[in-house]
Amino acid sequence: MMATRMPVRVFIGVGSNLASPVMQVRQALHSLIRLPFTRLQAQSSLYRNPPMGPAWQPDFVNAVAELRTDLTPRALLAALQRIESRQGRNRNRLRWGPRTLDLDILLWGARRLKLPGLTVPHPGIANRAFVLYPLAELAPELDVPGYGSIEQLLARVDTGTLFRVR
Ligand code: ATP
Ligand code: MG
Ligand code: MG
Repeated sequence: MMATRMPVRVFIGVGSNLASPVMQVRQALHSLIRLPFTRLQAQSSLYRNPPMGPAWQPDFVNAVAELRTDLTPRALLAALQRIESRQGRNRNRLRWGPRTLDLDILLWGARRLKLPGLTVPHPGIANRAFVLYPLAELAPELDVPGYGSIEQLLARVDTGTLFRVR
């Protein structure tokens, strides 16, 4: 009999601030449902938030998705980048500039990964209210490997600019 693998619990950060961001985020969540060897376990509310990068760009809409996957980290990242491309993500642009879709791997179970082009936990996680707040909505008990509990991290960021999309 074939050995069954235990799927890994993975969290994905979803963001958009171009071309109807709410629709972009919903469409991305829909694409996550269709990933091979992967189940969409839960999705957070959507949150509107001012841009982190250059201030002249539109507000972002952000959410977090929880997956169970048997894909490797690299395979999942590649699949996420294909979804970004399909939704018109234009790479080689200004850092933290406007985009139709950004899909970041936030957490990979309790592991820390440092591969070329892939660092997990996501390096920005501890400073970003728009990641921590929806993450805490899905998993308030979570520990972020190398950073601390989600509760501690959330206490150190400003959530005052986040508004839940109704
Ligand atoms: P940030 O990563 O600060 O949120 P960004 O999402 O705008 O910025 P991108 O242009 O989407 O950055 O990605 C730049 C590179 O980051 C990608 O080519 C990818 O290889 C790399 N990368 C490293 N770690 C991760 C991760 N955990 N999730 C997604 N991409 C990552
Ligand atoms: Mg990002
Ligand atoms: Mg990204």
